[in-house]
Amino acid sequence: YQVGKVKKVLTTCPHCATGCQYYLVVKDNEIVDVEPANGPSNKGLLCVKGRFGSFHFVHSPERLKYPLIKNHETGEFERATWDEALDLIAAKFTEIKKKYGSDALAGFACSRSPNEDCYMLQKMVRCAFGTNNVDNCARVCHSATVAGLAMTLGSGAMTNPISDITNDVDVIMLVGSNPEEAHPVIGMQIRQAVERGTRLIVVDPRDIGLSRQADIHLKLKPGTNVAFANGMMNVIIHEGLADEEFIRTRTEGFEELKKIVEEYTPERVAEICHIDADHLREAALMYAKAKKAPIIYCLGVTEHSTGTEGVMSMSNMAMLVGKLGRSGCGVNPLRGQNNVQGACDMGALPGDLPGYQKVTNPEVIAKFEKAWGVELNKKPGVHATDVFPAAIRKEIRGLFIFGEDPVVTDADQHHIRKALESLDFLVLSDLFMTETAQYADVILPGTSYAEKEGTFSNTERRVQRVRKAVTLEGEMRLDTDIFIDLMNRMGYPQAQLTSEEIMDEIASLTPSFAGISHRRLDKGESIQWPCPDKKHPGTPILHVGKFSRGLGWFYPAEYVPSAELPDEEYPFIMMTGRILYHYNTRAMTGKTPGLMEKEGHSFIEMNTEDAVRLGIENGEKVKVTSRRGTLITTARVGDKVSPKETWMPFHFPDGNANILTNAALDKYARIPEYKVCAVKVEKL
Ligand code: SF4
Repeated sequence: YQVGKVKKVLTTCPHCATGCQYYLVVKDNEIVDVEPANGPSNKGLLCVKGRFGSFHFVHSPERLKYPLIKNHETGEFERATWDEALDLIAAKFTEIKKKYGSDALAGFACSRSPNEDCYMLQKMVRCAFGTNNVDNCARVCHSATVAGLAMTLGSGAMTNPISDITNDVDVIMLVGSNPEEAHPVIGMQIRQAVERGTRLIVVDPRDIGLSRQADIHLKLKPGTNVAFANGMMNVIIHEGLADEEFIRTRTEGFEELKKIVEEYTPERVAEICHIDADHLREAALMYAKAKKAPIIYCLGVTEHSTGTEGVMSMSNMAMLVGKLGRSGCGVNPLRGQNNVQGACDMGALPGDLPGYQKVTNPEVIAKFEKAWGVELNKKPGVHATDVFPAAIRKEIRGLFIFGEDPVVTDADQHHIRKALESLDFLVLSDLFMTETAQYADVILPGTSYAEKEGTFSNTERRVQRVRKAVTLEGEMRLDTDIFIDLMNRMGYPQAQLTSEEIMDEIASLTPSFAGISHRRLDKGESIQWPCPDKKHPGTPILHVGKFSRGLGWFYPAEYVPSAELPDEEYPFIMMTGRILYHYNTRAMTGKTPGLMEKEGHSFIEMNTEDAVRLGIENGEKVKVTSRRGTLITTARVGDKVSPKETWMPFHFPDGNANILTNAALDKYARIPEYKVCAVKVEKL
């Protein structure tokens, strides 16, 4: 709405997946401020990233504003026209396709971009490139959630709304999640709930802000979530607290689970997890006896070589005590990027078309072939984390990266650089010149959330509007227009569509989105999928009465140690994570001076006991080395982490933690083990 010369545009925060609603305050085509709105997930609250980190980057002079083509003789990027850039991309990708087949091409969608962008990106990859080699950054954050929850419950998404699991619940069990830093508005709501009397169990290897409020903090050894969950279930079964009626009527596979968890006595689990057996018993009783008790988890569960089994263990615990399909309970992954849920929902996944419809299902394929007028590839594609080794093996030769910076964000930076160098042709679309962009043959300027229409799906499956607040500068183009143009240049006839029309196409092909349209959202509705028809109000709680897969499936898992454990040469475990002031690569928050003043450099947290032994003082420079690389950073000494454990944020280029991390992959979801690698720390 307009107030004098000032326009206030209601939109959705582009950082984390809490999906906070706010107004962008616009004067003379420039965003000058952000004001909170009373959205369903934020209730008028905003965190420092949303409030101050959401607009400087939009107007940053460092924005890419026109296409660039690399001059391979000089190694420099040169300004190009759109025709030159898009013709070159179409010609190179078509040549690779002809010479090596469609599956030599791949595309990554941007989990920060609206649903409509992700849908068109995957459509371009499937219809014009002719491959299912499409993925998004969920592969490196919550692919284990998508796989693990889909296998056990039938739907790879948060089961309950944020307001439902932070209001009027008896116990919250927070596993591998630091919401006050990574999802601050959810963190604030959990803190408020605890202040009102909700009891809190924190399961995390590190002290987090909320562990000081917790009734029990199980400060477990990194990488032992499966053992912890098995121990919890062992106690629950032995204490007679399993919900037998729920198990009998709503689940399958219980006997096998019972057999496996029988071996995980509290004493054995205490030894594996480095926790107190009585604390484990206490946590199990507190969780099982509570009427309303949600499990809330995040990347501390997923980013392991056993991440999917960690997620399935969360489902197992909730099913065992019948805490699913009702208010104040459930299994609730906090998704990372603002639209990573949406990028998955929109089919930016190698095995799934929009709405998790399988590429291996002939009926699904027939429906999409009819709608899209093209014969589709039926072979599931390559996961993003497998694209890099495939590039080194020359099986993948052409890659289109939309709004991702894998050199910074993916585990074991060295092998990512090698893979990008191995490609025949790399196209990158982004807001800024990134580390990954240096390897590109063509760079396209991307558009920000404030310059386009669309929708984001937040962590609780809530589809909310993204609205254009400022007009695009100069010759910049909408991302969807670029994809459409490229499809046509590669021989797939795609009509021009607005964002609203793209959502209508999504709804026509995706049963869980069938009732969702911009028109409904613009009338003030806020809809959580599944929404099967235009009158349907959406589905706040999943699995009510029946799981999405019919019966819930207990999927028992044995504890398997992390892929790389400390030894004499590399005696410390290193974990990685986020801090309050920045979002992922800092591409957006790094443009806000105030946030950079608060936290502008990398650091490593280590325990006082280790620091004293190594003669390292708080604030001193240290050299950190893993089997994959070395970096210099600053030591933060204290007791946040346990002895022999360390923690680093991954936001900062001056000591990028992903130089050190291990790219060992989970066997189901192919997610890398960011949370455990072995390092040595040396005084400089
Ligand atoms: Fe934005 Fe997340 Fe902060 Fe909300 S909690 S304002 S969505 S960064």
